Amino acid sequence: EAKRQGRNTLRLFHPSMEHEVTYRTEIETELRAALLDSQFVLHYQGQVDGDGLLTGAEALVRWQHPTRGLVGPAGFIAIAETSGLILPLGRWVLRTACEQLALWSASAATAHFTIAVNVSVRQFLQRDFVEETLAIVRESGIDPACLKLELTETLMIEGVEETIGKMHALREHGICFSLDDFGTGYSSLSYLKRLPLDQLKIDQSFVRDVLDDPNDASIARSVVALGKSLGLKIIAEGVETEAQRNFLAGIGCDHWQGYLFSRPVDARTLEELAA
Ligand code: C2E
Ligand code: MG
Ligand code: MG
Ligand code: MG
Repeated sequence: EAKRQGRNTLRLFHPSMEHEVTYRTEIETELRAALLDSQFVLHYQGQVDGDGLLTGAEALVRWQHPTRGLVGPAGFIAIAETSGLILPLGRWVLRTACEQLALWSASAATAHFTIAVNVSVRQFLQRDFVEETLAIVRESGIDPACLKLELTETLMIEGVEETIGKMHALREHGICFSLDDFGTGYSSLSYLKRLPLDQLKIDQSFVRDVLDDPNDASIARSVVALGKSLGLKIIAEGVETEAQRNFLAGIGCDHWQGYLFSRPVDARTLEELAA
């Protein structure tokens, strides 16, 4: 069935409670092998501005599993985090995304592209994260201003001072930051104003029913107003319809991302969308 739905269809697993432990152990073992065997691939989802122009993409990791098919991040990121395997996996994602960006920078149709990379809490709080990231940026030869790291609000609970320090260190080199899934986590506005962010990302859970649910519409408006007052750009994720896009543009959201433009696709397919 996954075959019929096409190569970008991801399989999700719903292991029953008694199989949960076995599943985690299996996945952990298989993840180790997958890292050695290059079974991961990045797909890219376009980020679009108010004029409908593609300005770049978010890199989203997938696992080309030898027997389970194409597995989405929901099937393994949490296990990678608790096992520590997120560190080598995260490094691979960052390096691969930067190498892709270097290729895009060298080609006229995609020369202006930015790339957004998801960074997990454990990865960001790793001791050498700043040095490692700068080394990857240097080795890939990209313009650091075209790299945007997507962080989540959880960092504010896990280590706000360390997070702010590392963000400043990376920002000195031109790297940008977006706060992903904004509104779903533990937001302290007093911390938020201290983070050297460039962008807030309105979570798709508010976008989904933004036209029908007045509460979601209020939250979307508030996020835009808050972000603007802090001098940030605003991107909405999970935009699936013209009506949602128009509403979001109307409240001042400057960029968007979602199935309305494109699903996450391989690099070559994204290039075709830029042409
Ligand atoms: P995210 O960063 O919030 O990414 C957005 C998710 O929403 C992606 O799911 C994307 O495919 C999906 N999406 C995009 N547009 C639409 C839409 O219009 N409608 C709907 N219903 N969904 C849409 P995906 O690829 O399964 O990734 C899930 C999460 O896994 C990501 O959420 C991110 O938190 C995490 N993730 C993905 N790649 C990486 C990675 O390389 N490293 C880390 N640490 N986490 C990653
Ligand atoms: Mg993201
Ligand atoms: Mg998100
Ligand atoms: Mg999300």
